[in-house]
Amino acid sequence: MDFNFNLNGIEPGIDGSEASEHEYDVVIIGGGPAGATAAMYTARADLKTAVIDKGLTAGALGITSKIANYPGIVGEIGGAELLQRMRDQAASFGARFIQDKVQAVDLTSEPKLVFGNAGTYSARAVIIATGSMGRGQRVKGEDDLLGRGVSYCATCDAAFFQGQTVAVAGNNDEAIEEALFLTRFAGHVHLLSPTPDLKAPEHLVHEISHHPKVTVHPGTVVREVVGKSHVEGLRIARRGQGETLLPVTGAFFYVQGARPITDFVQDQLEVSESGCLVVDKEFRTALPGVYAVGDVLCNHIKQAVIAAAEGAIAAMAVDKELHGRKQMAVDWSK
Ligand SMILES: Cc1cc2nc3c(=O)[nH]c(=O)nc-3n(C[C@H](O)[C@H](O)[C@H](O)COP(=O)(O)OP(=O)(O)OC[C@H]3O[C@@H](n4cnc5c(N)ncnc54)[C@H](O)[C@@H]3O)c2cc1C
Repeated sequence: MDFNFNLNGIEPGIDGSEASEHEYDVVIIGGGPAGATAAMYTARADLKTAVIDKGLTAGALGITSKIANYPGIVGEIGGAELLQRMRDQAASFGARFIQDKVQAVDLTSEPKLVFGNAGTYSARAVIIATGSMGRGQRVKGEDDLLGRGVSYCATCDAAFFQGQTVAVAGNNDEAIEEALFLTRFAGHVHLLSPTPDLKAPEHLVHEISHHPKVTVHPGTVVREVVGKSHVEGLRIARRGQGETLLPVTGAFFYVQGARPITDFVQDQLEVSESGCLVVDKEFRTALPGVYAVGDVLCNHIKQAVIAAAEGAIAAMAVDKELHGRKQMAVDWSK
């Protein structure tokens, strides 16, 4: 890898400012709900905070067309708009948002170094909040109809499919749990398993197989999401039976699963078998001053409110660590 970084931090900043502009108490990598909320709390605690993020619409919340279950927001709101509000709130307390893609980090040095395409940022503490996107292969039509019948989150979107016929593609426990959740709203749910057997605990396999509103299709893959302005069906192929069109208005994909974005960490932090960073209950990694929050962890429930809450908890732990205090001391009257 050719990073071509200036480790002394004397290169011009991304906005032409001097290197001292790149020295922070806290650098947060990723400005989704987890990172933006962490920034709100650290900035509010008087810690000089920068959030390095590659783009407002590059993360899970940023690409979400509508969200209706975030506390305090009545009705639907676009994910990017909600995220911008969170960022504006953090910025109002002094957090600086910098558009840059982080390529590498040195988490053992003091201060810690974060290497972006546009600059090098140093910090006493680093919070990793890069989320988990990047499902590899998508099927034809999937991207075009994302948010218009295609979803990756039944917990979030099931209520939009009241009485409708939907499909869930996947064979793991997440896919099955989401399919079962969908049965509360949808008229019928087709579970399309790419493998002949479901790869989930026995009780879940039993429940889904006997559910009156579910049809399990073993050994079935999705070839195409069909529809003009909204999902109208899935072109599916079952082993040895050729292709057919399955009429559905919703398609939920849990194939391959999303991988946490940790490539820039290289081998500096412990990761679980699923590629998730390992943290304690205050979201500390094994390295002092290094935290991780949100979907970059193996969270069973991936929701914006949970990511935000984790950001808040980690920020309080950072404040405790940097200020060497037992309790966080924020002047909330400011
Ligand atoms: C289609 C969809 C619909 C959803 N609907 C809902 C819903 O209705 N309600 C709900 O509560 N939840 C919903 N979710 C889940 C929710 O969006 C996530 O749980 C939440 O956004 C996770 O927050 P996060 O901050 O951990 O990660 P993200 O929101 O993914 O943010 C991560 C951020 O990190 C940045 N980043 C990543 N890598 C780098 C890098 N190398 N350098 C710099 N920046 C980087 C990205 O630009 C991004 O802004 C939905 C998710 C999806 C995919």
